[in-house]
Amino acid sequence: MPRGRLAPSPTGVLHLGNARTFLLAWLDLRSRGGELLLRVEDLDGPRVRKEAVQATLEDLRWLGLDWDGPVVLQSHRLDRHRAALERLQEAGLVYPCTCSRRDIERAASAPHAGEEGPVYPGTCRGRWQDAAEAEAATGRRPAWRFRVPEGQRIGIEDRFAGHRSFPSEGLGDFVVWKRDGTPAYQLAVVVDDAEQGVDEILRGEDLLPSAARQRLLQEALDLPLPRQAHVPLVVGEDGRRLAKRHGDTSLAGLRRQGVEPAEVRALLARWSGLDEEAARAGPAALLEGFALERVPREPAVWRPGLLDPG
Ligand code: GLU
Repeated sequence: MPRGRLAPSPTGVLHLGNARTFLLAWLDLRSRGGELLLRVEDLDGPRVRKEAVQATLEDLRWLGLDWDGPVVLQSHRLDRHRAALERLQEAGLVYPCTCSRRDIERAASAPHAGEEGPVYPGTCRGRWQDAAEAEAATGRRPAWRFRVPEGQRIGIEDRFAGHRSFPSEGLGDFVVWKRDGTPAYQLAVVVDDAEQGVDEILRGEDLLPSAARQRLLQEALDLPLPRQAHVPLVVGEDGRRLAKRHGDTSLAGLRRQGVEPAEVRALLARWSGLDEEAARAGPAALLEGFALERVPREPAVWRPGLLDPG
């Protein structure tokens, strides 16, 4: 039985793009009798407040999605994350880095490396003996970066996006442990997915390069490789991924305006090539005959006015 997860970051409120990805993940797992866990990635971003976690759960329930087992908070698993960091340190696969964001921007050759920001130019690779030396020399507590092997192509066989290949130069040595003493997203995700027995991942295609980074970590830590599916994002009419500039597309905001969850599901269904009428009845009505490969390949486009209060 496949086991997947919803892994929201409770950094703000869920918007229509998150909602569509979660609906697809739910349908993809449930239609095959799989299990779906909920892990709240509350390590991501600045200190996440308790209320933000509650609001995330409320948004999912409002939409009609459910999950199996208890809600797992990533912040409760720090000892596991730390153990993984120590393994990487012992194997010499990570190094301390004292660069600030500005240092990296200044040193990077490509000024605009897309939404992911500049590729780390490797400034601290081989620069410090250990964390103590790095801190003594700079007065900064170091982050830890994974040493990405040079000259490799990391291939991802994606159930939806097909075969994708990422040259290691484009990934750059990435952070696995932050200066503030907490695990970075890439490390926390692979440790938690492995421990929760997650063998299938479905998420937005903005995370495809992260799938390549996570693959390197999974290999380094001897963890199983989950199957991957990355689906197109929801974008505005300008082709850019949903953000504040496109108006309030948060589920909480729509709810406040009096939009019914049935109407939100109908829109998500239309964007996904599914039956809108069935979607109004509830996510379960979409299960029969659901096939991930029939979801459109193009990004879904949000336009104001698509959802008006009833
Ligand atoms: N927490 C991440 C996000 O909301 C998703 C992580 C993942 O699916 O691996 O963007």
